[in-house]
Amino acid sequence: MKVLVINSGSSSIKYQVFAMPEEKVISKGLLERIGESESNLKHTGNDKTKEVKKPVKDHAEGMTLIFSMLTDNEYGVIKDVSEIKAVGHRIVHGGSFTKSTLIDNDVIKAIEEYSDLSPLHNPPNLVGIKACQEILKDAKMVACFDTGFHQTMPEHSYLYALPYEYYEKYKVRRYGFHGTSHKYVYAEALKMLKKDSANIITCHLGNGASVTAIKNGESIDTSMGLTPLEGLIMGTRSGDMDPAIVTYLMDKTGSSTKEMNNILNKKSGLIGISEISNDMRNLIAEADKGNKRASLAIKMFCYRIKKYVGSYMAALGTVDAIIFTGGIGENNAYIRSSVLENMEFFGIKVDHEKNKVARDAASFSHADSKIELLVISTDEEKAIAIDTYNIVK
Ligand code: ADP
Repeated sequence: MKVLVINSGSSSIKYQVFAMPEEKVISKGLLERIGESESNLKHTGNDKTKEVKKPVKDHAEGMTLIFSMLTDNEYGVIKDVSEIKAVGHRIVHGGSFTKSTLIDNDVIKAIEEYSDLSPLHNPPNLVGIKACQEILKDAKMVACFDTGFHQTMPEHSYLYALPYEYYEKYKVRRYGFHGTSHKYVYAEALKMLKKDSANIITCHLGNGASVTAIKNGESIDTSMGLTPLEGLIMGTRSGDMDPAIVTYLMDKTGSSTKEMNNILNKKSGLIGISEISNDMRNLIAEADKGNKRASLAIKMFCYRIKKYVGSYMAALGTVDAIIFTGGIGENNAYIRSSVLENMEFFGIKVDHEKNKVARDAASFSHADSKIELLVISTDEEKAIAIDTYNIVK
C-alpha cells in the first residue's frame, strides 16, 4: 500500500510517500514559499531530484503541483493519484486526542477548535487536509497529533497552579508536543536495550526542543506546555521564565500581546541571547572563533537541558536510558557531553570516545555508567506512515 505523509506548515508542505508495510520511502519533497512571488519545490522520486520554481498561490495549488510530480513520467512514483490509498497528516495540536485517528467531520471540528492554542500550525494543517481531500477523493485520511503521546500525563503534571476554572473553561493545561518523535525513539531504544518496557528520558533537540519523562512506555511529564513555548531554550523560543516578565515588559515597552508573543516565540532563545543566529551550527562556529555571546547561548541551552534531565530523574525514580535525538541531539557530541557532565553521582558517565563518533542507534555510555546513554535518529514521517497504515489496513 502507498501511504502519503503530509506535514503542512504556514507557507510550506513537506511530503514523503512510503511503500507499506516495507516502511520504504519511495519519494519525498518540500514545497516552500507558498503564496510568495516565487515558490520552490524540491522533489525526489525514482532516485532523481528535480527543482521547480514558480509561483504557487495556496496549499491547494501546492498539492496539485506535488501530485503532478508524483505522477510525472520521469520523476514520479505512481501512475495515477488513486494509487495513494491513505494519507497521514501531522497535526500539531490535538487537544485531548490520545492517538492517531481517522479523519471525519468531528476530528476536523476538533482541530479547528484547537487552532486558538496553535494558531501558527493547526490552520495550515487543516488546509493541507482539505487540499488532499479534494484531489484524493477515495483515500483515507489519518490525523497524527504531536500532543497525542503526552495524554497519559497525570493531573499533577499537566495542571498549572492557576485558578482551576481556567482549566475547565479554557482548557489551560500542559499538552506537550513532539510526541511522535518521543514515542518513536523510545520504541527504537527498547529494541536496542532488548527490553519490553523501560523508564527513559528522551531529549528531542532540534530548532524546537523538548524533554519527556517516559515511565514504562507512558509519557508522565514533558517540558513543553499549553503551547510549544515552555521548557527548554530553543532556536528562537525563550522556554521557561518567570511569567511576571511578560507583563513587566509589556508595561515597560508598550508591546501588545501579539508583539510579546512574537518576541517570545521568534526573537528569544539562542538568537535572542547570541544576537547572531538561531542555528546551533553557526553558534558553535562563532563560539570557536571566540564569540562570548555565542558561547553563553550554548552554555545556557545545555544547562537548561541538564536541569530537566535531573528533575525527570527525580520524577521517574529509576532511569534505564537517556536518549538524544533531533538535529542537535543526533549530531553534536559536545552538546551531549556538556548536558551530562558532572552527573556521575546520578549514575551517568559519558564515554567520550564513543560519544565523538555516536550516530544513529549508538550507545555512548561508559562501562561504569548505570544509565544507558543513546543517540537515536528520529523519524516522525516514518512513525506517521506506520500509524496511518495500521489504522487504514
Ligand atoms: P527542526 O526542529 O526544524 O526539525 P532539526 O531537528 O533539523 O530542526 O534541527 C535543527 C538544528 O540542528 C539546528 O540548530 C542545526 O544547527 C542543528 N544541527 C544540525 N547538525 C548539527 C551539528 N553537526 N552540530 C550542531 N548542531 C547541528
